[in-house]
Formats: sequence, structure tokens, C-alpha cells
Amino acid sequence: MARQKFVCGNWKMHKTVAETAALVRELRSALGDAAGEVQVAVAPPFTALAAAVEAARGSAIEIAAQDVHWEKQGAFTGEVSAPMLADVGCRHGIVGHSERRQLFGETDEAVRKKVGALLAAGVRPIVCVGETLAEREAGRTLEVVDRQVRQGLAGLSVDELGRLTIAYEPVWAIGTGKTATSAQAQEVHAAIRRILRDVGAPVADQIRVQYGGSVKPENAAELMAQPDVDGALVGGASLKAADFIAIVKGALR
Ligand code: PEP
Repeated sequence: MARQKFVCGNWKMHKTVAETAALVRELRSALGDAAGEVQVAVAPPFTALAAAVEAARGSAIEIAAQDVHWEKQGAFTGEVSAPMLADVGCRHGIVGHSERRQLFGETDEAVRKKVGALLAAGVRPIVCVGETLAEREAGRTLEVVDRQVRQGLAGLSVDELGRLTIAYEPVWAIGTGKTATSAQAQEVHAAIRRILRDVGAPVADQIRVQYGGSVKPENAAELMAQPDVDGALVGGASLKAADFIAIVKGALR
């Protein structure tokens, strides 16, 4: 079954409100019809979400949040809830990014709760999974990814599974300039597809599995040409309009 490619830019802790509006405007005018053939989203920091939604209004560019708290509201200083993300106009929410897992102690259980909270608020989760270099070198890649996918998605209905995206992001490839080869990516993506079949049989072939980890204009098309690579989650290269546009166009080839 043909899955529409989905490319999302993760801006991390970059861009002011004015810079966000300018970059979204640049993307929308350059991408034109390409955003639509390929699903395109950007994830600015929380402070710039409203400006991004405004700048993208009327275009095919969608806005994603980089994280979420699982409670709807309450005494959780510094946190932002899923209904708040829906309220500001976010269509997607990234959860389980390796920087959240490694720097902020995010567990598979937290990922599961965040996924549930996003779905309940009508925001589509992008669930990040991926092994560290030590885990890869110990031959544990598939075991780690299997655990992260099963625990992160535990208890979801078939309908809920159909609304999410998985991002396979080998930790050793994020921000390092080292990209998984297209064969390495395809191997893990195919394994993720098998796990998805196991947990959500009828919708497994509809769920997009993005690749993330030093995606650049030079490697994007080859990675996304793999049968189970359905797009990209792009960090560093999403901060420059020309690079991100070239990556989105790479999904069209
Ligand atoms: C990311 O942070 O999701 C990512 C893939 O970063 P980069 O593209 O910079 O490796």
C-alpha cells in the first residue's frame, strides 16, 4: 500500500517568534504544491507555536510540538498539555525524542502516557525510537526498538494506532553527521513494520515510519526511496529553508 511521505522539521531550541514566522513563510512560498504531495510539518519551540500556526495558515504546512505533558492541566510548572497544543493549532506532537530520553529521563512509560494524552486531544503523535551506539555495537538494536515501540504504544486501539507516526532515529546518527546507510535504515524500518503488524494488524501498513538522524539534501532521496522509509524527521537541516526544501523535494523522487 502506498503511504504518503511525511517530512517533519524538528527545530529543537532554535528560532525566535520573528525567525519562526519568516522561515514558515519562506517554506510555504517555496514548497507550493510540493507540500501536499508530501506531508510537511515543522516543530518550533513552544514559544513560537502560535506564530508558526499563523504563518502557515491556508497552506499545507502543518505545525508540530516537540514535547507534551500527559496531564490535561494542574500543578506541573514548566509543562504544556495536549489540549493546550490542540488549542494553539498543533496537528502533531513529537514524543520520546532521544534528547528527551537521554537528557530529561523520559521513559517508555512516560512516552506511552504522552501518546495517550495527545490522541485524546486530537493531536497526532510522532513517536521516536532508536538505539544508542553501544546498543547497536552490542547487537541489541532490534531488541531496543522492539521494547520502545511495544511499550510506547501499549494499550492503543486500532483506530488510535492509525493516527500516529513512528520516527526511527538511531541515537548515534542524531546531530553527529553520521547517517545510517539506507540498508541499515530499511532493516530497522522493516522490523518496526513487523512489530506494528503484531500490535495493530489491520493498520500496520498505513502507519508512516520516518527516518531521523543527520538527514541532509544529499542523502534524503536515497533514504526515502527505501520501501519502509516513509519520510524523515529532520533536525539541523530543517533550520535552513533551502536544505529543508531540498529534503522535502527528495521525498517526491
Ligand atoms: C532530530 O533531532 O530529530 C534529528 C534527527 O536531528 P539531526 O537531523 O540534526 O540529526
